[in-house]
Amino acid sequence: MQNVKVTWIRHIQTLCTLIGSTDLRRFEASQNIGLIRDGSVLFSDESGEILAIGTTEEVTLIAQEYHRVTTIDAHGKTVTPGLIDCHTHLVFGGDRANEFAMRLQGATYGELMAAGGGIYATVNATREASVETLIATAKKRLGKMLSYGVTTVECKSGYGLDDPTEQKQLDVVAQLKKEVPTRLLSTYMGAHAIPKETTSTEYIGHIINNVFPVLKQRKDVDFIDIFCEKGVFSTQETKQLAQKATESGFGFRVHADELSDLGGGKLAAELGAKSADHLLMTSPESVDALAKSNTVAVMLPGTPHFLNMTERAPARALIDAGAAVAVATDYNPGSCNSDSLPWAMHLAALQMKLSPAEILTGVTHHASYSLGLEHQVGQLAVGYQADLVLWDMPSYEHLTYHVGSSLASSVWIAGELVYEAV
Ligand SMILES: [Zn+2]
Repeated sequence: MQNVKVTWIRHIQTLCTLIGSTDLRRFEASQNIGLIRDGSVLFSDESGEILAIGTTEEVTLIAQEYHRVTTIDAHGKTVTPGLIDCHTHLVFGGDRANEFAMRLQGATYGELMAAGGGIYATVNATREASVETLIATAKKRLGKMLSYGVTTVECKSGYGLDDPTEQKQLDVVAQLKKEVPTRLLSTYMGAHAIPKETTSTEYIGHIINNVFPVLKQRKDVDFIDIFCEKGVFSTQETKQLAQKATESGFGFRVHADELSDLGGGKLAAELGAKSADHLLMTSPESVDALAKSNTVAVMLPGTPHFLNMTERAPARALIDAGAAVAVATDYNPGSCNSDSLPWAMHLAALQMKLSPAEILTGVTHHASYSLGLEHQVGQLAVGYQADLVLWDMPSYEHLTYHVGSSLASSVWIAGELVYEAV
């Protein structure tokens, strides 16, 4: 008899294990979500690791070896790995509700900027906000996300554009890592826009020469991101920043081909970026380059929806060419004010023609790979972290079919029950 305290979820109608290679799942492999009917998962409440997974019949034999067992019967329910939101701008001050209202009246981005709106409105609000306020609001947001089954969140800075505020945003994420159960990844995105007082070339030089040494010292920053876009940062500047980021040991991500095709997708693939995100305007050439790379193409369908654009990223073409696709929210106050990954998943199904299985792979294994966590989370295999969601639905298809409220009934992170629906 083993003395470890364990949790045993059994008789799960639909268990999606996502078990498989830690490599990216291309073509048909992205449809393979490791389905088990009448499934069972057994995990340690102490180490937080999965001890056994399989059919209820198989796992029963192993569960009998433990005498301190919390047993949950999951007839009619579904279990998946915890969902991973691999692209958010979680930490920001203020909101832009007035700007949204103006947009509804037909105001252009230029008019919004002239009225004090746009990204600089959030920059000012974030500069003014105290660390305590930013922590409190981000915590609330993460609590909501947990209720949707989101157990890992990538958080970008980029609303400071000056060093103290960028560092403040990173400090907030560092503090949140200590205070919330959600797994958080921290991305420095000073290169989100050009500060008013400088040029893009000067600013990139400043980041490389003055900010990178500080980031290296902090030891709590995981990635560097850049907005590669016409009128913002050029491909040359993106390259420069990527090379320095890689030399300094950071993973690299790119906001690529969102509003115009600069070849950002291809560039991200060539630079070995962990992800190329948005890709609304990306070219067939970039699709091919991404397909041949290990750069994850992150689809953010909430953003063009929120901006009332007609374009969508070529998610189908990417998968058909062999690229690995993830889906995320792009949660931010300006262009996608939604914390809901399930909503983004619904849009990916409806507007991008991805299958429920491809989307589930996108918000678990592929998202995890893009964050360098593919050996820990994103699949429910023995030895992996017990980050999982018990859903009040009979099959995983309901994840993309159900809109507007959460069907998560219990959520665990590292074996700890962190959310229960009332
Ligand atoms: Zn973004």
